[in-house]
Amino acid sequence: MSKFDPTVHGVTQGLLADWMSCRALAAHRCAGIERPIRTEALDYGTMVHELLAELHGGIMSGKFKTADDFSDQVPRMLQTIEDGWNTENQFAPADKLQQLEMALLMAEGVLRQYARYWERQDFGSYQWQNLEQIFDILAGGTRRRGKFDGIYRSEKVGNLWLFETKTKGRWDDDNLSKMLKVKIQNKFYITALYMMTGEIPAGIMYDVVRRPQIRRKTGRKTMPDETIREFAERCIADVEKRPDWYFTRFELKISEARVKIWTGEVEMMLAAFRQWWEDGMQPMQNDKFCEHWGRPCRYLDLCSTGHYTGYERRGFRYSELEE
Ligand code: SF4
Repeated sequence: MSKFDPTVHGVTQGLLADWMSCRALAAHRCAGIERPIRTEALDYGTMVHELLAELHGGIMSGKFKTADDFSDQVPRMLQTIEDGWNTENQFAPADKLQQLEMALLMAEGVLRQYARYWERQDFGSYQWQNLEQIFDILAGGTRRRGKFDGIYRSEKVGNLWLFETKTKGRWDDDNLSKMLKVKIQNKFYITALYMMTGEIPAGIMYDVVRRPQIRRKTGRKTMPDETIREFAERCIADVEKRPDWYFTRFELKISEARVKIWTGEVEMMLAAFRQWWEDGMQPMQNDKFCEHWGRPCRYLDLCSTGHYTGYERRGFRYSELEE
């Protein structure tokens, strides 16, 4: 099992953001300590990402000329995703299978609407350059690693844009557009794109696909529980009724001066991270991050008891880069 080394394994924006939040969190990650996962759920967010890569990849290659061309292929693509997951998880428990069924039904309905909703932009004004592109840049002794969701050139001016998709439940438009200007991921990716191309990127198109917030009807006294299919159909009907609420894009324009400020900022963060690693990765705890978005940190049991029960030492790897 190899020990974490920023020159060998590199640093992703996710690890850097964890390190900025809590040194103990980064130290546990770098030591390769994780909770064992028996069956990983193939969730709605992952499926949306996979289908969006197919949609934009199909537009780029000329396979899809219209949103309907894509919609016709969605069942086949989902079947491939489902078959792959079933092969890897032959003994999946019932709750994970239900989760899978739900995610498949919702992803199909939502993505068809998405393709229609953004047809003019995605099939017209965006010139797709690259999708799901992995980057790996060695600078200052540290590898910067990550994956861009998409890169396109605007049709009118021809400058480079990053395209990032997120699936979210709730958000506040005003707060989210302010947060985009301070998000480590944006700073990390924009500066990486600048380093790779030597071209100042024009900005980031932040593409948000809202998760349906409707609850499944269960535990009713006089009526049977709503089936998963009925529930998914109700969610899809809601997306059809108010697509503006489900699909939003935030355009974050970035000036040349800001790209240069971010370049310096990312360099400083990485240098400080490297120094922390050279000094032996002290696991200083930050209780402000032990609960985040209403969820406990996955290391809360370990930090609060000092015991490793329920954890395993897997060796370091980046699951976000599918390692
Ligand atoms: S539980 Fe709290 S202190 Fe421990 S790693 Fe997570 S955020 Fe840090």
